[in-house]
Amino acid sequence: MKRTVYTEEHEIFRESVHRFLEQEAVPHYQSWEDEGLTPDAFWKKAGEQGLLCPQIPEEYGGPGGDYRYLAIVNEEMALMGLSAPNFPVHSDISAEYILKYGSEAQKKEWLPKMVSGAVRGAIAMTEPNTGSDLQAVRTTAIRDGNEYVLNGAKTFISNGYQGGIYIVVAKTDPSKGAKGISLILVPRGTKGFEPGRKLNKMGLKGQDTAELFFNDARVPISNLLGEEGKGFAYLMSELPQERLAIASSGVGFAQRAYDLALAYAKERKAFGKSILDFQNTRFKLAEVRTELEVGWAFLDKCISAHMEREFTVTEAAMAKLWTTELQGRVTDTCLQIFGGYGYMLEYEIAKLYADARVTRIYGGTSEIMKEIIGRSLDKEN
Ligand SMILES: Cc1cc2nc3c(=O)[nH]c(=O)nc-3n(C[C@H](O)[C@H](O)[C@H](O)COP(=O)(O)OP(=O)(O)OC[C@H]3O[C@@H](n4cnc5c(N)ncnc54)[C@H](O)[C@@H]3O)c2cc1C
Repeated sequence: MKRTVYTEEHEIFRESVHRFLEQEAVPHYQSWEDEGLTPDAFWKKAGEQGLLCPQIPEEYGGPGGDYRYLAIVNEEMALMGLSAPNFPVHSDISAEYILKYGSEAQKKEWLPKMVSGAVRGAIAMTEPNTGSDLQAVRTTAIRDGNEYVLNGAKTFISNGYQGGIYIVVAKTDPSKGAKGISLILVPRGTKGFEPGRKLNKMGLKGQDTAELFFNDARVPISNLLGEEGKGFAYLMSELPQERLAIASSGVGFAQRAYDLALAYAKERKAFGKSILDFQNTRFKLAEVRTELEVGWAFLDKCISAHMEREFTVTEAAMAKLWTTELQGRVTDTCLQIFGGYGYMLEYEIAKLYADARVTRIYGGTSEIMKEIIGRSLDKEN
């Protein structure tokens, strides 16, 4: 069915994104996965092509597009089966925080570099001892004269190994719980701050996910993002956009798995006929096809609500929960159609399966999404 949220202009942008990825990402993708990295040159080309931070206004070097341009990049990457590089953490999340809460000087310093791909953005919330319970972060940023002194460790940070600017969630007042949390900009090269090893993940092989260590790392107090003690509130207000990005990818990757499985089912023969001729295969793919239609329609509704600034934290939790569970379900069903080949990593469906597993975990687990939705139930009539 026809999508409802995009205009012709958006579709022209989508075609250019698709062409760019076809030429500049697909031929090199395996080597990125082998190295666990994406090259600087690719980020710069992506910047030139307008794929990075398309929402950033012209005064900070961007094209000033609406949210749908971000969504298109995420959808196209997924529809082409590309889980690296991690553009959403860069464009949808890190750049958005700087745009919304940054001082004029911070915006002028970082946004043009993020639009051009010269610098990659990362957001560092999770720590070895706390993920879901964000209020319990232990990293501190204690004021000393005109500087903050950071101590602590982060883990599982996307773009962590190759990042240029890190938004670090830290306690500026450890006695105050959530109200003592602030966001601090920490540039690569800050003395006392080191990205650790690249983590060895079961999927998302081309993404550089890393640990970060802060050992008396000093940054000027002008690196505070927004106001002191408001970090937790900022994080909560940015969650809908972060979760919507995961939802866009979720439906896109599910569609990719279906497209691959359908093509394979037409080609593969068993018992003298193509496996698509078995009623079970047709029924499975019919179910998936139907679920995908529901998924795209739901996604369009979420994108529209976000455009209207009406997309709530609860609705974002629903979107993240449902689309990532869809992605997991669909990828599993589609892998089964490949038989033993589905288990072989040289088949893309096996990678999609491994990549899909984390989407029910990061950006808030499925259980936490249910908690958020559950909390809203009391307020309903
Ligand atoms: C590949 C990857 C990339 C990531 N990228 C980033 C990033 O860029 N930046 C960043 O900050 N973080 C990132 N993360 C971290 C991710 O967001 C966390 O892993 C996630 O939020 C879960 O936290 P945790 O791992 O500490 O699990 P825990 O919080 O320890 O949870 C363990 C289990 O307990 C369950 N649980 C916890 N609390 C409750 C509850 N109240 N009710 C019911 N069940 C509960 C969880 O659902 C889960 O099943 C990334 C993780 C991965 C794997």
